[in-house]
Amino acid sequence: MDETAHQDDVTRLLEFLRDRDVPCPLCRYNLRDLTQPQCPECRHELLLTVGVTKPQFLWFLLAVAPCAFAGIAAALLLIPMTVQTLSGGGIPEAPIFVLDALGWLSFLGGLVLVRHRFAFLGQTPERQRVYAAAVWASHLLAFLAFLATILFLSGGP
Ligand SMILES: [Zn+2]
Repeated sequence: MDETAHQDDVTRLLEFLRDRDVPCPLCRYNLRDLTQPQCPECRHELLLTVGVTKPQFLWFLLAVAPCAFAGIAAALLLIPMTVQTLSGGGIPEAPIFVLDALGWLSFLGGLVLVRHRFAFLGQTPERQRVYAAAVWASHLLAFLAFLATILFLSGGP
């Protein structure tokens, strides 16, 4: 930042604090009518900035939750699959492999979501809600398909 821009920021900061009660973000000292860009109490240099008061993580967490659950389920499913194969019960049925693969796929999708969390959080709450609902709907459909497969493998209703 060059010196003029810095001086502009200082001027704006001091203008903002004129006749206004604002606590120091570190020590909570009231910075009203400050004359220097420095807290008189804790001596830290101050900066005027734009922040988000309360970021909403609800829809993001709701979108990631089924992916995390599917990943755990896919890992746990490997146990009976391995036991069956090693104990001479033969290789598990193909739909079980598909189900396990879908679980891992969902887990990978969850990782992608976490990696791009700021892109998700930057959407409007309405859009975040739609994404979360889509993630849940796809997982519910996959779960119903799994139940149907189990019924089919066990001889059908
Ligand atoms: Zn302070």
